[in-house]
Amino acid sequence: MHADIERILISRQDINQRVRELARQIVADHTAQDASPDLTIVPILTGAMIFCGDLIREMPIAMKIGLMTVSSYPGRSVSSQGAKVIQQQLANVKDRHVLVLDDILDSGHTMRLVAATLRELGAASVRSCVLLRKNRPTALDVAVDYVGFDIPDEFVVGYGLDYNDYYRNVPDIVTLKRSVLEARP
Ligand code: 5GP
Ligand code: MG
Repeated sequence: MHADIERILISRQDINQRVRELARQIVADHTAQDASPDLTIVPILTGAMIFCGDLIREMPIAMKIGLMTVSSYPGRSVSSQGAKVIQQQLANVKDRHVLVLDDILDSGHTMRLVAATLRELGAASVRSCVLLRKNRPTALDVAVDYVGFDIPDEFVVGYGLDYNDYYRNVPDIVTLKRSVLEARP
């Protein structure tokens, strides 16, 4: 696995520190509006799983978790193939304040689709938080409430992000060697 890594873009230490800052900011913003906030956190699976696990453990407020699986980079894709909701396990989000978590904002299709779906289901508010945002016009066009890191427009894996469903367990955000991306089964 490590032989496939080209370079580390963001180290696990930097991720850890930024995730704590994001958590503090999110809690501060929500408690400023309501002294006892009660949220539904919706991580977009599978990519946001690790980010969610780390973030919510730094957020000492009441929360429920709802799950949505969205696919846009199926298999060996390295660019968006259009977002599709594959599965949802949201429980009741009607009149609840929802915070959507995603690993990365790229074309913005996923965030738009998920936010629209949650509003249709009657969420009282929908906010969004992404760990990474790619430096491309489509991503910068979508309004998100919280961003961990702005990164160059490169294909990255690790900390939940995959290539062909592998590398999610790499603790840092990394790029892969060209030879790996070009390999065929
Ligand atoms: P969007 O819908 O904004 O184009 O893309 C969001 C989704 O595409 C993310 O949830 C993620 O699953 C996938 N994605 C976008 N860019 C990358 C990337 O650089 N690496 C990986 N592994 N997935 C990406
Ligand atoms: Mg994803």
